[in-house]
Amino acid sequence: MAASVDVLTIGYAHERVASSVVLVRENDVVIVVDPGMVASRAAILDPLHALGVHQDDVTDVIFSHHHPDHTLNAALFGHARVHDVWATYFNDHWGERTDVIDGAPSVTIWDTPGHTPQDISTLVRTAAGLVVCTHLWWSLAGPEVDPRASDQAMLESSRARVLALDPVTIIPGHGAPFSPADLAR
Ligand SMILES: [Zn+2]
Ligand SMILES: [Zn+2]
Repeated sequence: MAASVDVLTIGYAHERVASSVVLVRENDVVIVVDPGMVASRAAILDPLHALGVHQDDVTDVIFSHHHPDHTLNAALFGHARVHDVWATYFNDHWGERTDVIDGAPSVTIWDTPGHTPQDISTLVRTAAGLVVCTHLWWSLAGPEVDPRASDQAMLESSRARVLALDPVTIIPGHGAPFSPADLAR
């Protein structure tokens, strides 16, 4: 069993800020990770539609953490359950936190604090190997020391835990996907 991963928007953080927005699909489950700030909603919806997915088909949204640059556009997905470090939310139902998503056994939500105490990473087993969507890195280019981190030591420990999983690809909060091998260069 494996899920598929498509990057809808590659994030950036310069004078302007956009989140990396990622689509994960397995069986009938359609997940959007971090529907946050983007130049316009078309930067999320156009690539989604190009993949044959309508926003109402999205079943789940995952927030890597609670900052607005990663959550602002969640309401685009009116039929989706929303997952964060604390709970699962749907309309006015505040349900239990789950590490797994019904119907998507290849997807796991994992606590990776450091940038904030409420950071989670989305682990996705794909046919090519493990892909991790995470804000533990902004981008391959850095910053190595996160200027916004609530706890840099914890951030580094969370990074090490993720790397120990031997992922093939990391999709950082504000940059293009990279291979962990690229970090050593
Ligand atoms: Zn943040
Ligand atoms: Zn961010």
